[in-house]
Amino acid sequence: MPIKHLPAHLAALLAILVLSVGGLFAQTPVKVPKNRYTPEQDVELGREAAAEVRKQYPIIKDESIARYLTMLGDRLVAAAPAELKKPVYEYSFTPVNLKEINAFALPGGPMFVHRGMFTAAATEGEVVGVMAHELSHVLLRHGTANASKAQNPWLQLGQLAGQIGGAVVGGQAGSAIAQGADFGLGTLLLKYSRDFEKQADLLGAQIMARAGYDPRALAHMFETIGKESRGSGGSPQWMSSHPDPGNRTLYITKEAEALTIAAAADDKNFAPVKTAFASMPAPLTMAELAKRQTEPAANTPVSVGTPGQPVPPPSAQYRNINGGKVFQASVPSNWTPMSTSNAVRIVPENGFGQLNGQAVFTHGIEFGIAQAGTRDLREATMTWLKAVAQNNPDLRLAGEQQSLKMSQRTAIGTPLVNPSPLGGQERIGLYTTFLADGTLFYYLTIVPEKDAAAFAEAFRQIGQSIRLTDAR
Ligand SMILES: [Zn+2]
Repeated sequence: MPIKHLPAHLAALLAILVLSVGGLFAQTPVKVPKNRYTPEQDVELGREAAAEVRKQYPIIKDESIARYLTMLGDRLVAAAPAELKKPVYEYSFTPVNLKEINAFALPGGPMFVHRGMFTAAATEGEVVGVMAHELSHVLLRHGTANASKAQNPWLQLGQLAGQIGGAVVGGQAGSAIAQGADFGLGTLLLKYSRDFEKQADLLGAQIMARAGYDPRALAHMFETIGKESRGSGGSPQWMSSHPDPGNRTLYITKEAEALTIAAAADDKNFAPVKTAFASMPAPLTMAELAKRQTEPAANTPVSVGTPGQPVPPPSAQYRNINGGKVFQASVPSNWTPMSTSNAVRIVPENGFGQLNGQAVFTHGIEFGIAQAGTRDLREATMTWLKAVAQNNPDLRLAGEQQSLKMSQRTAIGTPLVNPSPLGGQERIGLYTTFLADGTLFYYLTIVPEKDAAAFAEAFRQIGQSIRLTDAR
């Protein structure tokens, strides 16, 4: 659960350590939150999650860009307070070919900067500002501090790492179900509270000043991000993991005025690097990246029969399936499970495969989980639907949403219609509930109008059989 509104009694639990940084005066003391993990565990987590990101993200290989980013990162690390730089940290600064203005850092040091950040930045200081902010999350160990607050005794390191990877990629805590891991914790690790945001801003500003950059560039970059996010094609990912603490420009400007800014850093490489991007392939959007990840994983069949051929009726025999540690269900024994990186589909013969050069899913059921930015189930459901509708522009509500129970939890059923790839309409039932950690759990039933009656009983039985098994 993203901890955005920290209850007062929890806030009081945070041990506050005031840093004294020699040489500078009047800068705002930065708080290091309580943390149940060791710096070594931060490193281990970050390393595993970064490996996942490198597998799934379009990493920019261009040497001049990569070297430039590393040079900026090294400058910031050199300017960071010594007492926060644990010797075990493994800093890395990796550019990725993604369009949205975003950057993120994983525990222990790996940082990824979107190409969109460079495109949006007017000066080197603006890119550096966001990097300094991200580095501050690393140095203050905000990711594992979040996990520490969760107080989940079952929070195991390996589970965390898989989840960060899943959560980072496509903004969905995805691969969990398919890989049989626990889930949802990545969202916890990478969503910072407003207080952590402010601390990262202040420390970031202090690091910038010592590296020879005016911290006001950070404030300006946040204004740019805010504007882009309000417009279309913005950066919801940045905004959802780094909530605006409010008055950002004001307090960063104040901090900048209180700081001594070192001799201006050499920024002669900024313009050539911007030019270097121009010769690269166009950046992917997060939506395109997420779409890639819904393609079947390498170890799963790419089709179940041939779409367009008749689909046999669901068997009256059922068998149990396990969706990682998240759920169990019974499905007709003549259906085939297929895992993608963020969902599990159970498909009858001829229900999934290539049709006219396109992957189509015409009959069956899909289970998955998605990040939710709210505890309001209806709102989380509609947000998820909107994301799905981006790739299915003709998807429509087909009636009233219904309150119901899924595995004894409050759930919502949403009837939908969509043009079927086989012609005519298909009926889609969307069922959503929250998992214990605030992640949205969903399943979808899909069937063409003409086969709806033949599948109704199977869908009903599957729905009743679902048991959510996430730890509570
Ligand atoms: Zn942040």
